[in-house]
Amino acid sequence: MMKLYNTLTRQKEEFKPIHAGKVGLYACGPTVYWFAHIGNLRSFLFADVLRRTLELAGYDVNMVMNITDVGHLTDDADSGEDKMIVAMQREGKTAFEIADFYTDAFLKDVGRLNIKPAHTYPRATKHIQEQIDMVTQLEKNGFAYTTSDGVYFDTSKLESYGRLSGQSLDEKLAGARVDIGEKKQATDFALWKFSPEGVKRDMEWESPWGVGFPGWHIECSAMSVKYLEAPFDIHTGGIDHISVHHENELAQTEGALGVDQANVWMHGEFLTVDGGKMGKSLGNLFTVDQLVEKDVDPIAFRYFVLGAHYRTQLNFTFEALEASGNALKRLRGLVRDWSSATDGGEEFDKRFDAALFDDLNTAQALAVMWDLVDSDIASGAKAKSLLRMDSVFGFGLELYVGVALEIPEDVLALVKEREGVRVSKDWARSDELRDEILEKGYVVEDAADGSKLSEK
Ligand code: AMP
Ligand code: ZN
Repeated sequence: MMKLYNTLTRQKEEFKPIHAGKVGLYACGPTVYWFAHIGNLRSFLFADVLRRTLELAGYDVNMVMNITDVGHLTDDADSGEDKMIVAMQREGKTAFEIADFYTDAFLKDVGRLNIKPAHTYPRATKHIQEQIDMVTQLEKNGFAYTTSDGVYFDTSKLESYGRLSGQSLDEKLAGARVDIGEKKQATDFALWKFSPEGVKRDMEWESPWGVGFPGWHIECSAMSVKYLEAPFDIHTGGIDHISVHHENELAQTEGALGVDQANVWMHGEFLTVDGGKMGKSLGNLFTVDQLVEKDVDPIAFRYFVLGAHYRTQLNFTFEALEASGNALKRLRGLVRDWSSATDGGEEFDKRFDAALFDDLNTAQALAVMWDLVDSDIASGAKAKSLLRMDSVFGFGLELYVGVALEIPEDVLALVKEREGVRVSKDWARSDELRDEILEKGYVVEDAADGSKLSEK
């Protein structure tokens, strides 16, 4: 039995798929006006671990992740500057060039973090008609009204509005901004925005209401029900999506189709830096490229993220990341000496599943993994159990388990030379050679029976 925490019901629930053996999973994906930062990537790693855990449990998962390539406004109140336009001005490119460039960058990060690619990555700009159709349906059902700058969802018309955040409309309104322009109430949100008069946009489309572009939330409602039927099983995103983006997605889908969008809504907590928010203006926001420039293996970041439960904040520091990198190196080194997989290790498999199936307790699962590694069962049994665990961890251990370290000829020559100078007790030269070997990426350790090499 698998238990997952459902934001909608505010409790851990036994997961029951809509169709036996299958799971429809929609994960809110990236906006593509800039590189994903490691906070964004934490939320995608959470979705990846969820997907892999469901697969370990035997489900056939269909995962959809949207790419938000349509410009949207910088704040939740449908105002502020358009991030896509900011990027175009910064880089002197068209909106479509920006979107393509950062979509490719995102997919590269997905690869480097060993995130399993979604089965479908629908792009908002390729689904304008689906979004227009849903707005049309909302209008027919009496949930939409038009102002001078767009078409809005009337949140007062949907009795259940606010249920994802667990607030009534009145409670939501009490916390909302006062300046609402022509909107009927502060919680109403844009379904379609008209292009501002006299401004030519790269991304604008004809619609029954006038030339413009979709509101921020409609793409996820329209595309999720296109690629997964409504309701589907699980919808994920970052915790900041609960009160606005997902509340509004759910409202749109319910308003248009009369059904719930998804049964289970799951949200990953934030990655913080120095206990606070990450932000470009704060200068504490890192990308995978920047980690790689600092010689960090992206999989070490994956290990670091898995060390915390997805519903707890995780504070990023380079020291903690380094500790994760060291643990990973130690693990890779240890498993090289193991024999290839044989039967056994079931006790650890069971403990591992118990941890993960309890709302994805990856920290506990990692502890079980180290118990396995340190245990005295046969190494072939360890190998089998570890590789099964790694189907969820995604550390790529299949390249290490039972695979002897291949040392290049030039490094072997240095090692041999070093053994020679040690016999003649030339310690200075021996130390020099150790440094040279280190520069080539290997650490020498001197043991009674000769020297042993491991990867830096
Ligand atoms: P965006 O590209 O801005 O739409 O963000 C992509 C995802 O990252 C969303 O699911 C956000 O909720 C999530 N997110 C943004 N900042 C953080 C953070 N500091 N830690 C974890 N997730 C984040
Ligand atoms: Zn979304």
